[in-house]
Amino acid sequence: IISFEDVNKWYGQYHALRNINLGIGHGEKVVLLGPSGSGKSTLIRCVNRLEEHQAGRIIVDGTELKGDVKAIERIRRDVGMVFQSFNLFPHLTILDNLTLAPRWVKKMPKKEAEDLAMMYLERVRIPEQARKYPAQLSGGQQQRVAIARSLCMKPKIMLFDEPTSALDPEMVKEVLDVMIELAHEGMTMMCVTHEMAFARAVADRAIFMAEGSIIEIDTPDELFSNPKSERTKQFLGQIL
Ligand code: ATP
Ligand code: MG
Repeated sequence: IISFEDVNKWYGQYHALRNINLGIGHGEKVVLLGPSGSGKSTLIRCVNRLEEHQAGRIIVDGTELKGDVKAIERIRRDVGMVFQSFNLFPHLTILDNLTLAPRWVKKMPKKEAEDLAMMYLERVRIPEQARKYPAQLSGGQQQRVAIARSLCMKPKIMLFDEPTSALDPEMVKEVLDVMIELAHEGMTMMCVTHEMAFARAVADRAIFMAEGSIIEIDTPDELFSNPKSERTKQFLGQIL
């Protein structure tokens, strides 16, 4: 459903992605890990064109990401993204945060959008927070709202960029549990995360990146227990 073919990206002179070749199947879950600055965020942000690549091809659900604005809009509708910071609109209630895109992008009637929003708030187990504002929620609750908000657009693919790294430890599990459920429901997922237990539980493949290149791809168990490259070993030695 996503394919990267010889993808290269530069920020000015800086070569941020080097010859990335990667295919991700329908329903597949991959985790990306690697040192700071290795290009993990850049790679996933290219999938919904928050970043533009300069060479190679990226094809998402049959559509190539190029200059075509209509194609980019369509892909963005199908690709949800959750960031480290929750990026909720502070002046809107939780319910209004969730109904915004379905109502204005998909032109869904208000009642239908609210029913859908409540269904996803129940899924992430915080329906009682619907009338509150983001600042009144804990970090873990806000991140679950951010996930529910993406799901309201019925994405085919979900991208996660370190969704738990800004959270207090006791809130990490409640967010990971929601992500694990989503994985079991068959969502295609690309997650930047260093949460090993999560990776082992849901990921089909783990991808280790360094300096803009993919160094090693394997099952999480194999990559974590039996890394082939020295660079991977060194990195895992630091975080395990
Ligand atoms: P982290 O673990 O710290 O989030 P990362 O693997 O996600 O790191 P990226 O954010 O993809 O790394 O950044 C890769 C490289 O590109 C870094 O050296 C970074 O400084 C550089 N970079 C990222 N965004 C920009 C930008 N908008 N302009 C210039 N350089 C950038
Ligand atoms: Mg990053």
